[in-house]
Amino acid sequence: MIVDFHFHLEEGPYSIDWLRRTAKTIETLEGKAGELANRPHSLAWINEMNAKLTRRLEQGCFSAEWLNYYLDRGKQLGIQRFGIVDHLYRFDEFRAYYEKHMLLDDSELGELQRYWLDRVCIGSIEPFLELVRQSQREGSPVSLGVEADYFPGGEEELRTLLGRYELDYVIGSVHFIDGWGFDNPQTQYKFEGRDLNAMYRSLFDHVLGAVRSGLFDIIAHPDNLKVFNYRPDETVLLPMYEEVAAAMKAADVATEINTGLAYRYPVKEMCPSPAFLDIICKHGVPITLSSDSHYPDDIGTMLKQAADLAVRTGYEEVVYFERRERKILKLKG
Ligand SMILES: [Zn+2]
Ligand SMILES: [Zn+2]
Repeated sequence: MIVDFHFHLEEGPYSIDWLRRTAKTIETLEGKAGELANRPHSLAWINEMNAKLTRRLEQGCFSAEWLNYYLDRGKQLGIQRFGIVDHLYRFDEFRAYYEKHMLLDDSELGELQRYWLDRVCIGSIEPFLELVRQSQREGSPVSLGVEADYFPGGEEELRTLLGRYELDYVIGSVHFIDGWGFDNPQTQYKFEGRDLNAMYRSLFDHVLGAVRSGLFDIIAHPDNLKVFNYRPDETVLLPMYEEVAAAMKAADVATEINTGLAYRYPVKEMCPSPAFLDIICKHGVPITLSSDSHYPDDIGTMLKQAADLAVRTGYEEVVYFERRERKILKLKG
């Protein structure tokens, strides 16, 4: 495992689950020292946990301490290059872009998505940029990126918005079809009774739009519509895989083996599927490796398996980006 080129510092909404998951990170990464190690689940333990959680909340996620949790843990796992990409929907500067393209009307879905956007969009992008740049100045092998949502028709708006920032790379993602954020567990009901072939055709049309837009260095998780296990027989999808892989090659864009769905979602499979990866490899599309971690203790998760799969599929190298320039790391040796 040599790169983890797609992970996030934080994501809301700030629910009890968020609090529990953040406490779990602290327990995992700091639980071997101090009161957290001495008497687990004692009053002293919970007081120490409370102090650490309070500190984390007061500092926010754009602190060197939180970032170093990722980098230290990653280095222990043998990761040589890091790529940080918080979601654009987290930042005020991009809020209008999301408001324009997401479905946010008075329907049940619209209200749910409005509630979600209000809670995940938390402030300016500047503290994020400054944190990662400071880490770079200190010599950390990190690249500064963002994960941008692709919306058909939103290309020029996104180009203008992204043009304001000096980034090492931009990941392009399809999380929305016709304004519906299909990977939100709360909107899973929208899959019921739908024509799956047509849905996947629509997903891949969006992915093709993203590939051809020229906006992105890496196309993220190209078959993430499978997140909740709604998918047709894969033989139906093979021609679409071919189409997407050929377009990636023609546009000279990279993609990734993203393990996020394999360890965090019901489908329990990496993106792309092995059959899709095979086709992507045959077309000579470069790949990187990604945990899509949203918490420091998830960094590098399953990337060893992802690297082994890449080698078995026929890849000898993975890519990363600096100043929008593609660089190469050998998978072996
Ligand atoms: Zn994503
Ligand atoms: Zn992501």
